[in-house]
Amino acid sequence: MLDVLVVGGGISGGSAAIYTSQGGLKTAVVDSRKSQIKQVSKLINYPGVKEITGSDLLENIKEQAIASGADWYEGAVESVDQNDEGYSVILTDGKTLTAKYVVIATNLQTSLLEKLGFELAVNEKVPSGKIKKVMGIDRDGTTKLPNLYITSLLAGLSSQSVIAAGHGASIGISIVSKETGKTYMWHDT
Ligand SMILES: Cc1cc2nc3c(=O)[nH]c(=O)nc-3n(C[C@H](O)[C@H](O)[C@H](O)COP(=O)(O)OP(=O)(O)OC[C@H]3O[C@@H](n4cnc5c(N)ncnc54)[C@H](O)[C@@H]3O)c2cc1C
Repeated sequence: MLDVLVVGGGISGGSAAIYTSQGGLKTAVVDSRKSQIKQVSKLINYPGVKEITGSDLLENIKEQAIASGADWYEGAVESVDQNDEGYSVILTDGKTLTAKYVVIATNLQTSLLEKLGFELAVNEKVPSGKIKKVMGIDRDGTTKLPNLYITSLLAGLSSQSVIAAGHGASIGISIVSKETGKTYMWHDT
């Protein structure tokens, strides 16, 4: 059984996985490789990085997560079900993974959340008026379900990569702190 399963290995999910695995939690990411950031050929608003392609940023984040100890699966999650120990997650290829904590970092994809009974509304921070967020999410990504977190756009935040990365990191830190009972800080020595 995993400590943490991250559904979606884009900017926010990859960032969450870097922190949970670096914090000592057995972490896996399942990603269907459709991150929005791949559409960006010249990213110039990520602080500290003067210019990078979205694909390179994504690959760097994935490599950092794996270097921190995370397992990374290519694939799509079909369902997430709560059980006595945590969550059972079924992939479209039939594989089942179980985890105590689940982070939903699927950005535009809302089907898993609808199946879990979350109510959706328009995310008013996105001008098109077509993008959804989950109702009743706290800014820290916690939800009505125990140990299930939701990241970035789906949590009502703005659609920007640095915000997605920061929110994923914040959720990762919250999970490590909750699981270990100690405030987690990653400070180089
Ligand atoms: C055209 C365009 C231009 C943009 N330009 C900029 C810019 O210049 N600067 C900037 O900061 N931001 C920009 N953005 C926004 C940026 O791309 C997002 O803020 C960022 O990608 C959000 O990160 P995320 O992790 O929430 O979602 P994503 O990076 O989209 O990642 C979500 C991941 O979840 C996966 N997934 C979904 N469902 C499942 C499932 N069921 N099972 C497994 N995996 C699943 C997807 O395949 C994807 O890899 C742009 C977006 C677009 C569309």
